[in-house]
Amino acid sequence: MMRIDLLRGDARAARNREQAIAKREGIARWAKSHPDRRRAAQARYRSKPGSKEKRAALDRARKERQDPSYIRAKKTHWLSDKGKAQVRAWRKSAAGIAWKKSDKRVSWEKAYAKSEKERERVRLKARAPQHKASNQRYMQTEAGKLMNQRRSHRRRAALRGVPSEFTKEQWGALQRAYDCCCAYCGAKKSMTQDHVRAVKNGGHDRIENIVPACKSCNSRKRDLEIPVAFKMFGVDTDAFWARHEAAVAKVRGEIT
Ligand SMILES: [Zn+2]
Repeated sequence: MMRIDLLRGDARAARNREQAIAKREGIARWAKSHPDRRRAAQARYRSKPGSKEKRAALDRARKERQDPSYIRAKKTHWLSDKGKAQVRAWRKSAAGIAWKKSDKRVSWEKAYAKSEKERERVRLKARAPQHKASNQRYMQTEAGKLMNQRRSHRRRAALRGVPSEFTKEQWGALQRAYDCCCAYCGAKKSMTQDHVRAVKNGGHDRIENIVPACKSCNSRKRDLEIPVAFKMFGVDTDAFWARHEAAVAKVRGEIT
């Protein structure tokens, strides 16, 4: 029933709260200007029979409300069928309808959204070290390295203003079309994506310009112009492009 009290957005609740605040502020002002009388009043209250027990009970109740298991249980209740039915019934009640129309609802919801956002920010910040570590682990895997490579290709293509369009699926199919062999030396090692015409020299980041190349060929080739690179590898230009055209056709046939 806690939530229902909290959600009662009618004028009465607002007035009660204002009065309570005013009263508290008034007492605080009085206590500040009359320290001796405040101490005496406190002593009188504490010596009253039952006051100690009363304060202990209030303390216990407050602690209980802050207890994680209590908060969890409350949450579970409002998500259960019974709790949901209670909320539905309340929404149809006069108080629920008044709440829906009230300006307070808007500000309350705004505040709630803001606090949720803040909670999420804090949560992410607390998780940042683990997040970073798991990211680093992922970046060491084949999939992570591939993703990284793709990102940097896309970025470079964007910087040069050339088309960039190459998917993971295309890459897998392209490697298969090349029988997982380096397009330059024919070695069967783990492959990198090589732009035949380097992006730096205006080459596109598309399958027509991408071949699988072993790491050592890729780094030997760098940004060399095609004729220079082909000469270095001893590659026959016509045969190279004929093979690539066939491979691209095969990939395009596989992946629509
Ligand atoms: Zn190679």
